Amino acid sequence: MLECPMISRPPLTTLPVRRRALVDRWGRRIDYLRISLIDHCNLRCVYCMPLKGLRFLPRTELMTASEIEQIARAAVGVGFSKIRLTGGEPTLRPDLLEIVERLARIDGLETLAMTTNGLMLDELAAPLKAAGLTRLNIHLDTVNRGSLEALMLWNDRDAVMRGIHAAEAAGLTPIKLNAVVLRGYNDEEVADLAALSIENAWHVRFIEAMPLGSQANIAIRHYVPNRESQTRIEARFGPLEALHDGELVGEARMFRIAGAVGQIGFINPVSEPYCDDCNRLRMTADGKIRLCLLTDHEMDFRKALQEGGPEALHALFERAVADKPVGHQLRAGIYPEVRGMSQIGG
Ligand code: SAM
Ligand code: SF4
Repeated sequence: MLECPMISRPPLTTLPVRRRALVDRWGRRIDYLRISLIDHCNLRCVYCMPLKGLRFLPRTELMTASEIEQIARAAVGVGFSKIRLTGGEPTLRPDLLEIVERLARIDGLETLAMTTNGLMLDELAAPLKAAGLTRLNIHLDTVNRGSLEALMLWNDRDAVMRGIHAAEAAGLTPIKLNAVVLRGYNDEEVADLAALSIENAWHVRFIEAMPLGSQANIAIRHYVPNRESQTRIEARFGPLEALHDGELVGEARMFRIAGAVGQIGFINPVSEPYCDDCNRLRMTADGKIRLCLLTDHEMDFRKALQEGGPEALHALFERAVADKPVGHQLRAGIYPEVRGMSQIGG
């Protein structure tokens, strides 16, 4: 349970074993920053982006590689140790490798990860590894071509599979696959996707759909709780073996099909919110720090950098952590309306 908030801004706290990190009013260590590189995408997953009517940021409004590096350096300077690049689709940034190289050189950054739909990985996996990327999450909602086309418009299963194998060959392991489950689209196919973990050392992770922006109604109407997906998987493969004593690993509860080399994960932001363990901030492609994925409160870090230089960022990170809300309010029917997932960075 969360404790009562402190009124004053929390100090930087030095913890005995782990590196120094900012601690928020609720006692959470905030050491993980997700950076969106671009709001554009080469797919249109139905729960994420509308087919029409979305305004994309003009190039001049996207943070430059240098700005991203300066903000990342400031983040690591106040104790962030993990950065994930996301989007939109991060592989659409022509300067992606330069950005990875710049961030990989930051002293104190322990993990530099990326989330991608995998379409470009066949050619990019090895250069990304060489540039310093440490880990990769690849988004694949189903192995069934028909439903893949309906759910992740324009996706190409074979290209994603080639990308997954290229990432594995490049050593970007463990490979983590992310699948959002929607009723009437892929809910009856979860066991087929889970089966990939039997012979591959991959983590196949099922994510509950969250309502955001223009696609909120789809996520609400087609929502499937993960316990239902687990029941389907167990009906095919028998009881799943709980790993890590059933405790959360990051945001996922991990399991194994008996005898499998890989793992199954369930990420339950709607049915089992993990806000108590939230350790992250998010930065949008136009340089706004978002204090919570599911709350519209943002702070303009790009403007602060342009007006005050890198020194201004440390204090702003402290303020952002101090103002971080206790959690989302999906159960009260409150969800973000200003930006959708592709405009924030999932
Ligand atoms: N384009 C990349 C991709 O698809 O992995 C990176 C950006 S995407 C916004 C990041 C993650 O957000 C994906 O794994 C996707 O499944 C997830 N996502 C998108 N919309 C979502 C929603 N409404 N609810 C839950 N997860 C969502
Ligand atoms: Fe693109 Fe990723 Fe959103 Fe799908 S989830 S539309 S791949 S940004």
